[in-house]
Amino acid sequence: MNQLNPALQRLLKYPVVFIRSTAQVDQISTHLYSSFGDLSHITMLEVVMNDFTKIGIIKNRFDESEDPAVIRAEESVIEIFKEFLEGLFRIEDSGTIDVLFLFDRSKGFNLKGPVFSGEIKGVFASRSPNRPTPVGLSTVKLVKRENNQLIVKGLDALNGSPVIDIKPSDKITAIDDLEVIRYNNLRANPRSEINELVKESALEKLLVMAAQIHGHYCPGLALGVIAGTGGIQKMGVDSDGLEDLLAIVETNNCFSDGIQFVTGCSFGNNALIFKDTGKIACMLVNRKGQGFRMVLKPDARDQMHVVYPGFADTFNKVVAKGERDSSTIDTFKSEGRTKAFTVLRLDFEKLFTVEPVRNIKVPDYAPSHESFTCTACGESTMETRGRVKDDGKYCLECAGEKVNRLTGSGINIE
Ligand SMILES: [Zn+2]
Ligand SMILES: [Zn+2]
Repeated sequence: MNQLNPALQRLLKYPVVFIRSTAQVDQISTHLYSSFGDLSHITMLEVVMNDFTKIGIIKNRFDESEDPAVIRAEESVIEIFKEFLEGLFRIEDSGTIDVLFLFDRSKGFNLKGPVFSGEIKGVFASRSPNRPTPVGLSTVKLVKRENNQLIVKGLDALNGSPVIDIKPSDKITAIDDLEVIRYNNLRANPRSEINELVKESALEKLLVMAAQIHGHYCPGLALGVIAGTGGIQKMGVDSDGLEDLLAIVETNNCFSDGIQFVTGCSFGNNALIFKDTGKIACMLVNRKGQGFRMVLKPDARDQMHVVYPGFADTFNKVVAKGERDSSTIDTFKSEGRTKAFTVLRLDFEKLFTVEPVRNIKVPDYAPSHESFTCTACGESTMETRGRVKDDGKYCLECAGEKVNRLTGSGINIE
């Protein structure tokens, strides 16, 4: 008798065998018939060749491996097979469900190896699809059900992955409670969450939040988050949004958004001062002019290159050469994201020279000015930007004067 491989041997134990494709039906039938002759106890159906019952299939636009965070951010559809439809009765009662699915493209496993971010981890310390039992588990938000289709958010499975089970998540209550607590804390103090994260040096979370205003992930933003966090920890005070803590940044690029977000010193609350020296540097000072100046060390780029060599070329293409086709932009975003998160592992005081400062002259609290209505355009304008002429008072533009602008190239006259 032919020696059967373990997968085929396992098949013989089951009254019903599910296999993946017609080609496999033929192949396996032939093999089994030639080995055993009578196979009347085995029924061949199309589904999957393993120990689990497939109840449905996942549909989304991701056919190949991608950053799990990107997959989770989009909606996926779980299509339940008709014979299991009744099992969805009242699933809408659950806002959050656990989905178990098969990693059908799993490539075997190593007990230790690189994960998606490039870090080395043990297989059980990772969510890698390449594991001894290739089963995935995602807790997802059930957006809605349309007959046999569940539209969900938060799933990190590839298109076509077989689903083997669904159940209401027991995390629902905990998540809901935490959301209420979080909301109430933020209602009371909008900086409460950021304060906590700064205390804990939770740089990844801060980067994720800072990127909400920055719009993309990049190493510059990560440096701003690192410097903002390190700086606030040294100062021992956070911004109250009322100009008692001031940040003086020396560049108006990505770095400054990380500083604005983490320190709470912003353009809008007058606590962010732009000193156009063109250095990746920031000074945090209190009203007495005491604080710290942080400036990026000349070898910081080398340190960043060691932990992740990518992104530099793409950055040059997009920023220096202005190549903005969609595939270059996609690479920019994906390499920028990987590099930003990798850079967070570097040490604040190895990246930045940090020096205490004393007696810094800080500007007065931002004055409040009356407004007037421009004689020509009729727009309400700050008093100090008015120009009086014989026939009325004009805004700068209507008076034909140049206006200062802060652009990507610095402060300049229009
Ligand atoms: Zn950026
Ligand atoms: Zn005007």
